[in-house]
Amino acid sequence: TRHLRVLQQNTNHLLIMGGGVLPPIVARIRPLLDNELDKDIIVTADSSQDGKPMNIVRIPSPKNESEEFSFQFNGVYDMGTTQEELFTNEVAPTLKSLFQGLDVTIFAYGVTGTGKTHTMRGGMKLSERGVIPRLLSGIYRRGRKVSKDSGGETSVSVNLSYYEIYNDKVYDLFESPEKRSLAGLPLREKDGKTIVVGLSERACDDLKDFERLYIEANNNRSTAGTKLNAQSSRSHAILMVKLIQTNGNETLISTASAIDLAGSEDNRRTENGKERMVESASINKSLFVLSQCVDAIGRGDKRIPYRESKMTRILSLGQNNGITIMILNLAPLRSYHLDTLSSLNVSSRAKRIEVREIENEVVFTQPPRKTAPLSGSSIQRQPLR
Ligand code: ADP
Ligand code: MG
Repeated sequence: TRHLRVLQQNTNHLLIMGGGVLPPIVARIRPLLDNELDKDIIVTADSSQDGKPMNIVRIPSPKNESEEFSFQFNGVYDMGTTQEELFTNEVAPTLKSLFQGLDVTIFAYGVTGTGKTHTMRGGMKLSERGVIPRLLSGIYRRGRKVSKDSGGETSVSVNLSYYEIYNDKVYDLFESPEKRSLAGLPLREKDGKTIVVGLSERACDDLKDFERLYIEANNNRSTAGTKLNAQSSRSHAILMVKLIQTNGNETLISTASAIDLAGSEDNRRTENGKERMVESASINKSLFVLSQCVDAIGRGDKRIPYRESKMTRILSLGQNNGITIMILNLAPLRSYHLDTLSSLNVSSRAKRIEVREIENEVVFTQPPRKTAPLSGSSIQRQPLR
């Protein structure tokens, strides 16, 4: 039934809050890895009302286990969600808009080790492929159809750019690290959009081309081991797919951007050395600015502080009229408790505190405590499983 419920979900609309327009935010909880099977699960998903698609994430309070926080999203994908389900529900519906000329931005946010890269890039096996290769595959398929339906009058081509933001500097990932200028590439505003000046573009005719370019460029990414994750990515990686549709002397250009953000973990937990701390400081600053932008949009503020980091300038959250989808990746484990709470606090639309029943707390002497949600809560209380 979970499968059916998820398929009925439609989160590709913008939610208007206090006058501001926030993109849809969905949460994805990753499954336990093979070496985690004996670990405590503290993050769960459910729906606000039976029969509705899942949209609530629950987590106990770290200070008081009898209190539970619940956070509301546009959609929540639990541990069993496949790559295909996530793509079909959240990303595939944006392809039509992309071909109509709207820009589409998809980004994954969360602590290192929660599944951002898995969600965006995914594994090598076909079923494990993430949002990015599926997006490209969808673009090529639709491109062929558009061209065919026009009787060959419309030609569709795809160019790729791929860059990273590392220590608040922009580097072209199609350039090898040795060739990089340390100062990075400058940003400029053009026609209300932020562009990276001097960024290279590669023509990319099919999925095979794409995979070759993508693997080659990923080897140029800045990664370093932290205590949390040996392959932790210390940079924000931004893939831009430029779709060019030409018919006679008319050209329609739109862009799909897919972004794998750097980890949002707390420095104190990762025991970072000095160099890592510099990276973390700039990662945390840009993620902090991102959270302030989300807050400001949510409040309906006129001034969105998106200019305060390169990453948020490029995202132009709330500035463009394209389509943006935020995916918050979460690990269900207790060892991520505080980091999970801080990402939830940043990204969810609504938070509630509820008192939950603790099973096995009082033995024999009295029936289980009856508890009620705190006043104002409209969410059904459920014990954690
Ligand atoms: P991040 O990019 O957020 O640091 P990763 O994508 O590298 O995290 O994921 C951490 C580990 O968890 C990897 O071994 C990855 O394969 C695994 N993983 C993450 N999400 C899933 C998932 N939905 N299903 C199976 N394995 C996953
Ligand atoms: Mg990663």
